[in-house]
Amino acid sequence: MESQPSTSTPANRCQTCFGTGEVGGPHGIVTCRDCTGLGELPSSMVLVERRLRDLEVRYTAEGGRVSADVQWLVDEVRRSRHALVQILAAGADADSAGDGHRALSKKMCFLANDVLDLYQPQSY
Ligand SMILES: [Zn+2]
Repeated sequence: MESQPSTSTPANRCQTCFGTGEVGGPHGIVTCRDCTGLGELPSSMVLVERRLRDLEVRYTAEGGRVSADVQWLVDEVRRSRHALVQILAAGADADSAGDGHRALSKKMCFLANDVLDLYQPQSY
């Protein structure tokens, strides 16, 4: 497969710190939490996992039914994203198998990547 991993673009620039990696606060300048000081947002995989962990921490502390429901949903999102990564890898393997499989593998990769956002779409 000739696809390339997502690279830094102005669209990846952190809008919280405007690419500087630092933000001002009541106690002075601190490292930007959104980009961890890099000035660029991490990959969608990292952003989604970070958000899932935030949800787990926030709702697990509440306990009860809401906590159980959120944990179930977070687990399902993780399981589904893991399956998409496996589908993307299988599509990449099938792409090198021959012309008969190339169209199907490209479609598999495109659909899985549409959710995962690991590669830029024009590279398919
Ligand atoms: Zn930032």
